[in-house]
Amino acid sequence: MKKTALWLLLVLALSANLRSFVSAPPPVYVTLWFDTEDYILPEDDDATKRLAEMLSRRGVRATFKIVGEKARVLERRGRTDVIAALKRHDIGYHSNTHSQQPTVAVYLQNAGWEDGRAEFKRREEQGVKDIQRIFGVTPVAYGQPGSAWAAQTYPALRDMGIKVYLDEADHVGIDDQPFYYGGMLNIFKMRSNLVRMALTGGTSLTEGETAFNKVHASLRARGGGTISIYYHPNEWVQTEFWDAVNFRRGANPPPSEWKKPGVRPAAETEKAFADFEQFVEFIKSQGVRFVTATELASLYADRALDRSFGKDDLLHLARAAQKEITFEKFDGYALSPADTFALLTEAAAARLDRNALPASTRLTLLDGPARAFSPSMGTVHSSTFPWPAFASAIRDTAAYCRTHRRIPDEIWIGAESISPADYLATLGAAFERLGTSGQMPPDVERRTGHYTADQYVAEDSPGLWDWIIFPEGFHAPRLMELARLQAWTLKVALLQP
Ligand SMILES: [Zn+2]
Repeated sequence: MKKTALWLLLVLALSANLRSFVSAPPPVYVTLWFDTEDYILPEDDDATKRLAEMLSRRGVRATFKIVGEKARVLERRGRTDVIAALKRHDIGYHSNTHSQQPTVAVYLQNAGWEDGRAEFKRREEQGVKDIQRIFGVTPVAYGQPGSAWAAQTYPALRDMGIKVYLDEADHVGIDDQPFYYGGMLNIFKMRSNLVRMALTGGTSLTEGETAFNKVHASLRARGGGTISIYYHPNEWVQTEFWDAVNFRRGANPPPSEWKKPGVRPAAETEKAFADFEQFVEFIKSQGVRFVTATELASLYADRALDRSFGKDDLLHLARAAQKEITFEKFDGYALSPADTFALLTEAAAARLDRNALPASTRLTLLDGPARAFSPSMGTVHSSTFPWPAFASAIRDTAAYCRTHRRIPDEIWIGAESISPADYLATLGAAFERLGTSGQMPPDVERRTGHYTADQYVAEDSPGLWDWIIFPEGFHAPRLMELARLQAWTLKVALLQP
């Protein structure tokens, strides 16, 4: 009897443990963001204020990505009340003039890396400064107008102090969850984890709740993560988008000819506000947490930057680089191909200088190459390199990375150049030999690098650039080529415990 009682106690204790385990499901975060952009219809100001205040009242903080011209218009119209309501939320940036031609992807379509970065900054920085002046903060996040995405925006955004890329389109992404790209946290290409309730009354609310439940359940089943929800305040008040009315298919009328979009009947607007408020309350009641871009930046912080990488870490990377050049996930952090490139180059260069592997190596973030590799002219394709020649290339690559903060377009070994991928695979093999035998090899066998990280970047096609504001048939092969090169910086973003 006594033994049975003990067993019973044990079973009860175990099932209690199991229950507490089951009742702590993986965390699901919901990020709610508003592209706050209509600087034509004054009713949009009131809609913006009403949304910001309703959310504050319900204890929910959202991210309002504000167009520079919208911020200036609020100031000119004396809407300090709208500005004050918005200030209680995260402030993001949504370009300087949004749909006025040429839009971001149009003016960057033929630009290279450095000139494109400079051009984006030249055209867009004023809006950031105006937001700083009007809202008293540097915008934490940015997202492109429409689908006007471009890789060159990333380094320029970092230069302007913006930390998170928050938007939705299909250009680049990993498994519909946050990721790192271009040295920034991206909440982008969230597709199956994007939820929107229609604002058209009728069964909108129940359908929105069903849609949320479905996404929520599937995200919980895969271990938690983030749900993205976006709107534009103007959706509550207008019958047609403010910019489609004026800037459709490349049109660019002067301000004197801008037309106001149609205004929704008051009853429709009221119903949309009422439904949305209930939708927010419903989401709150589902045991999820609303988070802003600032909170996401810390929830998904890049812990690789806090680590020191020792010999075993580097040997692992050296072996992996010979097989495939893509991102890799570890316990609590991830490394992009550019991270591996930086760590192995830095450690190998230090080994050459000091005659011993450094006890630990820290990570420096690099951008990807600026142009696709083309082999150097007039030289032979060597299958091996003398060690001193390759050693010199390692030193030079380390110096290049320190100067330009990006992966070189080509690595010179004497008068012959090799691609960054071949260099990394070759370096991996040399590093492995050095690390395991402690000996410098007499020569280094050339390896072929298999760069696959760009499989997460979309192919250029007119469908990718589906935005009514673009000229008919617009697409941008050069932008997508740069996007593939910048996939060197791509890696998953991991939720920190
Ligand atoms: Zn927009």
